Amino acid sequence: MHIQTPYYLIDELQLLRNLEKIQQVRESAGAKSVLALKCFSTWAVFDLMKKYMDGTTSSSLYEARLGHEQFGKEVHAYSVAWSDADIKAVQQFATKIIFNSVSQLKMFYDQVKGQKIGLRVNPQMSYSDFDLADPARKYSRLGVTDQAALSEVSSLVSGAMFHYNCENADFDQYAAMLDKISDQYQGLLKKWEWVSLGGGIYFTKEGYPLDRFCQKLRDFSEKHELQVYLEPGESAITRSACLVTKVLDIVHNEKDIAIVDSSIEAHMLDLLIYRADAKMDNHGTGRFDYMVAGKSCLAGDVFGTFRFDEPLTVGSEIRFTDAAGYTMVKKNWFNGVQMPSIVVKRLNGKYDIAKQFDYQDFKNSLS
Ligand SMILES: *Cc1c(COP(=O)(O)O)cnc(C)c1O
Repeated sequence: MHIQTPYYLIDELQLLRNLEKIQQVRESAGAKSVLALKCFSTWAVFDLMKKYMDGTTSSSLYEARLGHEQFGKEVHAYSVAWSDADIKAVQQFATKIIFNSVSQLKMFYDQVKGQKIGLRVNPQMSYSDFDLADPARKYSRLGVTDQAALSEVSSLVSGAMFHYNCENADFDQYAAMLDKISDQYQGLLKKWEWVSLGGGIYFTKEGYPLDRFCQKLRDFSEKHELQVYLEPGESAITRSACLVTKVLDIVHNEKDIAIVDSSIEAHMLDLLIYRADAKMDNHGTGRFDYMVAGKSCLAGDVFGTFRFDEPLTVGSEIRFTDAAGYTMVKKNWFNGVQMPSIVVKRLNGKYDIAKQFDYQDFKNSLS
């Protein structure tokens, strides 16, 4: 089947490998998992995902609504700051409303007190390689730091959210932080029915000690007698998609540079933000070296430098792997570059073009 590039290709079989690990954590640790929509909101594969997950968690009214409409099950509605209109609207969709601060909790408590309410806690420790993504960075506004203020309002909420990791693949370090939280918040945890331990944990990664992770979560949940939730974003969808592009031109400036019909700034923005190279399978050893770059006019629109077994030519296909998380949710119309279609390879092997974008979409995103 010929599909016009560029397109994101989600492979349900690869997605399933992550989902089965999530299911294992559900069964052996008793921990529920809600998908973090800010990482991945491609609802074309939610029918598969919802069989293995307990719902969604959101960062805004729109995400909460999407979770409710397309995923169903539990809808954890969190926002760094709700507006009055948001709070009125989100109540129709949310199964839990999670506030980021004591002031927001107090501001809206009377409106939402019939519902399950949570508060985000900032434990002032974290794991993150990037200051930009570190929830416990200096002056962080993410969650309540003042333990006395937290205690004072703790009976207004039935649970709390601790999100303090980013791409943490180090189990021992994770376990040590969880022990600290367990001690430091002991009195409060005892009172609550549920606690969410957030996202940012790479527990679906190859080689991660999943059994020890499950045991740790089970011990935590038994000790404090509460329901544990995880909020996987990246770990739910890691390595389940690629971005398929095509070479449009090859130029030379000290190096051979292949220009593809995509753009890192428009289609894989996080690579630019975190200064990381795109990934490609089996391209570490070939004889032919190319810098692969995007077609936007940004000088630094570069995917990376890769080695190929064969020389590239105009029309060669190039696939960037691990392209599911923080890509489709962040894609934009910078430079008016053709937005990649969203294609799903279903479990039965059939390709399904879930979404295509055209000039009208570009035009309608502005006025
Ligand atoms: C970003 C975020 C997540 C998901 O993080 P991943 O690193 O993609 O797993 C979960 N919960 C909250 C509150 C977040 O901000």
